Amino acid sequence: GATIGILGGGQLGRMLAVAAARLGFRSHIFEPGANPPAADTAHALTTASYEDTAALTRFAQSVDVVTYEFENIPTAALDVIEAIVPIHPGREALRISQDRLTEKTFLQELGLNVAPFADIPDRAALDAALVRIGTPAILKTRRFGYDGKGQSRLQGPEDAERALRDMAGAPAILEGFVDFSHEVSVIAARNAAGDVACFDPGENVHRDGILHTTTVPATLSAGQRMDAVLLAAKILNALDYIGVMGVELFVTSGGLIVNEIAPRVHNSGHWTQNGCTVDQFEQHIRAVTGWPLGDGTRRTDVVMENLIGDDMDRVPALAREADTAIHLYGKAEVKPGRKMGHVNRVKR
Ligand code: ATP
Ligand code: MG
Ligand code: MG
Repeated sequence: GATIGILGGGQLGRMLAVAAARLGFRSHIFEPGANPPAADTAHALTTASYEDTAALTRFAQSVDVVTYEFENIPTAALDVIEAIVPIHPGREALRISQDRLTEKTFLQELGLNVAPFADIPDRAALDAALVRIGTPAILKTRRFGYDGKGQSRLQGPEDAERALRDMAGAPAILEGFVDFSHEVSVIAARNAAGDVACFDPGENVHRDGILHTTTVPATLSAGQRMDAVLLAAKILNALDYIGVMGVELFVTSGGLIVNEIAPRVHNSGHWTQNGCTVDQFEQHIRAVTGWPLGDGTRRTDVVMENLIGDDMDRVPALAREADTAIHLYGKAEVKPGRKMGHVNRVKR
């Protein structure tokens, strides 16, 4: 069988490797860190940095296709790999989603609604943007932000100096604060044949900037549900996308606003493991290996809850709950804010 190369050995890489194995594929993980969660589910593991061209070359030569679990892969590493083997999802999706400015610009040019935003290279740009966009607003680093890190909220123009200091010199964008009622996400898949399949949108609740729960079905009208799925498909088609993507949306009285896109399997799609015949991980493996997309119809109501840090102490009690599937990532060390696993509670 074919071998799938996976960049990144975290929990997403781990669950991708499990899905790959179930379809008869081998997987080879490339991960700079020691003892990654994916190590014990993959067939092969390369521990090397993304600057190690020789290691990247050997890795690429050992696989038939490369995919990834995170979007911040250095461009030079991608160049080395792509000279040897295809990368799915493709470079354009990575380029756009690595930078909030290119991402928001792309989405806006597609005709989708996004929060008002401005590039903030310096203090003068911030002052001008605060006049145009107003407050409340959020200053965000353009690159490398996750779990709400690299963000600073401004209640008024007097917060400009502090917010800019919070960016620590990193390039940033300012976003107007969206008055949303709740947040939802669409996990969408597209394969090489151009088929698109979307999972039912999930409703997301964050705690301390980290995803806490995803609930399906989400609170959405039939029209909103249709809009969510159609706009996700529009994004995937525009990128000639191959793989699974997470599309985060704000629900407002004026319609859906796109917050951000992630060119990979997504935490808010973990409910599919126990809610669908084919989950997001298998769907991604199918897409990047040229298979037909699977049946992602939702079979039951599900609440996914992340197990963060000390939530691990609750596992013995969770293991006694009926209708609860437990997914643990095998991380040796518990740290505050660290994603250790998740549970999917399905409706009886
Ligand atoms: P993730 O872990 O999902 O990648 P992130 O660090 O990339 O998160 P965002 O998704 O941009 O950050 O923002 C985190 C959360 O902050 C959002 O889910 C939302 O609750 C809130 N938020 C972000 N931008 C806005 C905005 N423009 N208006 C209102 N709330 C916002
Ligand atoms: Mg993000
Ligand atoms: Mg987000």
